[in-house]
Amino acid sequence: MSIFKILLYTSMAAALTAIAVPCPGAGKESGPKPWTVVIDPGHGDHDPGCVASDGKTFEKDIALDVAKRLGEKIERIKGTKVVLTRTDDTFLALSKRSDIANSNNADLFISVHVNAQDKGSAATGFSIHCLGPSSRKGRDTFNENFNICKRENAVISLESDYKTSYQGFDPNDPASYMIFSLMQNSNLSLSLQFADDVDTAMRKYSSITTSRGISQDPFLVLVRASMPAVLFEMGFITNSKDFEAMTSEEGRDKIAEGLYQAVRVYKARTDGEAVVEEKPKPEGQQKPEEPVQAVALPAASAVRYGTQVIATGKYMAPKDEFFHGYVPVDVPRGELHRYIIGVSEDLSKAREENKKIKSFFPDSYMVIIEDGKTSLLK
Ligand SMILES: [Zn+2]
Repeated sequence: MSIFKILLYTSMAAALTAIAVPCPGAGKESGPKPWTVVIDPGHGDHDPGCVASDGKTFEKDIALDVAKRLGEKIERIKGTKVVLTRTDDTFLALSKRSDIANSNNADLFISVHVNAQDKGSAATGFSIHCLGPSSRKGRDTFNENFNICKRENAVISLESDYKTSYQGFDPNDPASYMIFSLMQNSNLSLSLQFADDVDTAMRKYSSITTSRGISQDPFLVLVRASMPAVLFEMGFITNSKDFEAMTSEEGRDKIAEGLYQAVRVYKARTDGEAVVEEKPKPEGQQKPEEPVQAVALPAASAVRYGTQVIATGKYMAPKDEFFHGYVPVDVPRGELHRYIIGVSEDLSKAREENKKIKSFFPDSYMVIIEDGKTSLLK
């Protein structure tokens, strides 16, 4: 790559990140600031997003319905405010979507989408994406994710003056994506934690329970968001089972329920509160069940306790300086590695370590490791 190109990309990265600043005047409401979630239903109006083979079922409508349901559910959580980037069938520039999150001083940004593949493809399931250069290794997964990015980013070409607003970014040109490797995402750790919560909750509550995993990918809609942010692909419009789930009211409600449960768990963790697990509703039952305590301390000796310091799509060597000399335990799931340090079978020892670890990793939290899985310890 020529030095000119490197300079060009560096300045593009700077230009794109320089505008990732909350608007002046944001958060000027009186009283304590509510914990704010901005939900972004993808596409709208003349940008339908993915279109089903029936020619009349559009991603934009499914995304809006799921987003509205999710918003209503989140508003049940005390002290929470929900803002939707659009509440009807209107067109919104990608950059405007994250600007809405910034100007509302949001604590979390969720962009809601529907995936698609070529006709005849059996691809199914949901996936969760955080901003970054593509973290997927292997040609097939890289191509698959690059295709999602191209499609989701290509909507900028429907915006007037997009060449100026996006500094000449070409969603179809792989070279354009090099700027993402130069960008810093300071909210990555929390974004990945939320992505992990979504992954766990969708498997349990959604009507689409197959996970395609968590990855970092260069989505423009996330670039300017100055808070933890994910892009969520709920399922494939090209898959008959996913289609059935997304086109029934009950199916969409369950998708929203999965996201809601993830938001609830994520908020409780960031607030330092106990997370209580809500049982999935049995078919047809409308009333919420009494919550049950999530994490009963298991008695088995194989159980270990520790402090999760990062969840990331990339492999990190045990001797990485990041771990401050601790030897991490890696608990992988799919593409995601969860690194846990200060691990002990003795809970009080693990708690002592946790106090020290908190000084380097204020966002870290204690987990139980059992049978190759982790769960939150409170
Ligand atoms: Zn989309």
